[in-house]
Amino acid sequence: MLRPDYVISMRPEELLHPAPEGLYCPAGDFYIDPVRPVDRALITHGHADHARAGSNHVLATSQTLDIMRIRFGEHYARTSQIADYGKPLNIKGVTVTFYPAGHVLGSAQIAVEYQGTRIVASGDYKRVADKTCAPFEPVACDVFITEATFGLPVFRHPRPSDEITKLLQSLQLLPERSHIVGAYALGKAQRVISLLRQAGYDAPIYLHGALEKLCQYYQSQGVALGELRPATSETTHQKTDFAGSLIIAPPAAMADRWSRRFPDPVSCYASGWMRIHQRAKQSGIELPLILSDHCDWDELTDTITELSPSQVWVTHGREEALVRWCTLNSIAAKPLHLVGYEDEADI
Ligand SMILES: [Zn+2]
Repeated sequence: MLRPDYVISMRPEELLHPAPEGLYCPAGDFYIDPVRPVDRALITHGHADHARAGSNHVLATSQTLDIMRIRFGEHYARTSQIADYGKPLNIKGVTVTFYPAGHVLGSAQIAVEYQGTRIVASGDYKRVADKTCAPFEPVACDVFITEATFGLPVFRHPRPSDEITKLLQSLQLLPERSHIVGAYALGKAQRVISLLRQAGYDAPIYLHGALEKLCQYYQSQGVALGELRPATSETTHQKTDFAGSLIIAPPAAMADRWSRRFPDPVSCYASGWMRIHQRAKQSGIELPLILSDHCDWDELTDTITELSPSQVWVTHGREEALVRWCTLNSIAAKPLHLVGYEDEADI
């Protein structure tokens, strides 16, 4: 259909649409969080399902670029460019601005603006306070692209401080046992440690080797994590050495031989999925900690209400319920059907 000349804003679908490689902007010829290598990639954050190695040019916040370098090595891309929060950049006439997403260190929402239309691709985000990263910044837009990882009314995350209290009480009650907390290496591990420090826990915290580099990086960026020690020290042969200690490990390490060195460990797991008791039980978790770096149902719907966009596009998660909620609240909404973005481990 021909449009009259005086209509200058373009249809949002022309500005950004799903392609097999990821969310694509034809005018700027770039992808957001592509699932395979492309010429130009804009990356929202360092989690493995959003940041992949091998693209020619990568644009991301300096912290996300550092995290990609730590995870993939120097050659994660041919060239990289830093996007500062709140500073607009021009890509072939398209204005691109990164804003904090409150998800993990360096995480960003990406605002894409062209011919009077602004779309915000929020990546993964949350609204609760988190001292390990910059807080989510609401950005007015025509289209808000939201995740829906916990996009069902049943998902309501408890207060993080209450979950940490559970862990501290267990440490006090069972001083002869060690506590191993399974936590994803980027974001969750550092957030658990930060919350423990905020609750006044000042003993050394022991780390699985896979977490050391990222914890050091967080500390270099000014995130206070207190005294951290390797849990794999050659000097600790006695099982009793770790009695009463708190050890943080990637979830995958909890079931393998590595964990057998600790005395009668209490297995804990920090994840939004721990809200589903059945899942905690099946994984043999003794102390589930419901702690998520993603929005719960209330955070999702409150954010949409606050931003009041003309359209909401819903991706990676439980799209249907959130689309329906938008429709009932007179906001046009549709699922985006992007594939490859639900890595349960990072939740
Ligand atoms: Zn993520």
